[in-house]
Amino acid sequence: MNRRDFVAGLGAIAAIGATSRTIGAAAAGPVSPATPAPGGRAPTPASLWPAVVPRSVWDADDRLLPPAPPELSSSVKRIFVHHTAVFPRYAAEESASLVARICRQHMEERGFSDIAYNFLIDRYGVIFQGRAGGILRPVVGAHAVGFNQESAGIALIGDFENDEVPTATAEALVRLTAWLCLWYDIDPLGRSSQRSTGGATTRYAARREVELPTIVGHRETGDGTPCPGRHMFAEIGSGRLASAVAAAAGRAGASAPRRGPAPPG
Ligand SMILES: [Zn+2]
Repeated sequence: MNRRDFVAGLGAIAAIGATSRTIGAAAAGPVSPATPAPGGRAPTPASLWPAVVPRSVWDADDRLLPPAPPELSSSVKRIFVHHTAVFPRYAAEESASLVARICRQHMEERGFSDIAYNFLIDRYGVIFQGRAGGILRPVVGAHAVGFNQESAGIALIGDFENDEVPTATAEALVRLTAWLCLWYDIDPLGRSSQRSTGGATTRYAARREVELPTIVGHRETGDGTPCPGRHMFAEIGSGRLASAVAAAAGRAGASAPRRGPAPPG
């Protein structure tokens, strides 16, 4: 896909959530349009909600999760975009099982308490819930060492160092990111500072204050990783992704009140 196709793909989502592939009726799962917003605010209009495939559909085994509830941030102020680097080619029917494999690998081989990412998007534009705890809550992931607090991690399933980002994937990424920006009151075109919590695979030592865009590629804080791959990062670093998200959120926001940050708990 060339750049013009990417931008055209983004422009095609004039109505957020107007079309999104789902896997069965269960895809509505925890993202029912009737779900009240945090703090008792009015429900988000159904047209704003992307369809998200819940954990039950990809066979997450929640019995393996730690007994303690998932860690929550006070809010989300930044969206990290990742790619999985593995699984460059797969059929649409295989995506759910790939999410389950990634989850097992993160838990069994990397020692994480759960899958690292808050959301995953496949090559066909299907959005999956990642980490347990609720897609409407600021669940702390394990996707960006040093910067997992107050951020959400979205992983594109594929290798976008070598492959271009499919239009359906780009559309879903914009839709989901716009929704998160509205929900957490994030300016997609903004920047904010964040204090690194440090770690072996971040380029910023603990307690270092870093100013970052609100929509950021993992490589901007990761040490030596190409994640989310040069093709995806070209859209982030150029500001094209942020512009598309801002346009989508603006269209959606025109018909809905802006969300405040979700309260903890
Ligand atoms: Zn990454």
